[in-house]
Amino acid sequence: MAGRAGRKRKGDAVKRRHRFFLNPHNDKMVARCPVCNSSTKIQNHVLVVKLKPGQLLLMNVPCRACRECDLIIANRKKLEAAMADRLRQEAPELIGSDYAVAGTLDREDWMAVGSGALGPQEIKDRMYAFRDTWSFEL
Ligand SMILES: [Zn+2]
Repeated sequence: MAGRAGRKRKGDAVKRRHRFFLNPHNDKMVARCPVCNSSTKIQNHVLVVKLKPGQLLLMNVPCRACRECDLIIANRKKLEAAMADRLRQEAPELIGSDYAVAGTLDREDWMAVGSGALGPQEIKDRMYAFRDTWSFEL
């Protein structure tokens, strides 16, 4: 793929895409977008989760998405359960600690991390921060 080399530049402004909502309710509540009322679609996204001691966790999870609003909605309970599953093996002391969902990573970059080709600094360079984080009373 030509043109990808340009993404290796360091020190550029943070790349941003998508808006994000961490849904504390049942998924049925967001079958329609809370903003525009379009029906949402289920899409897998690779979420970049920041844990307190500067540790990153990549979570490939199904989310609800509204194309109109460029909004991704993750289910909080499911995300936290998936994170706990991962941390049980990697860092059990971090289960239940504070976290922030910071952005998303391209699927191909996520696969490169899985095969050991990308380290934490490359993840930070390649991730997309959210344009905005929203919350809604549903
Ligand atoms: Zn919408």
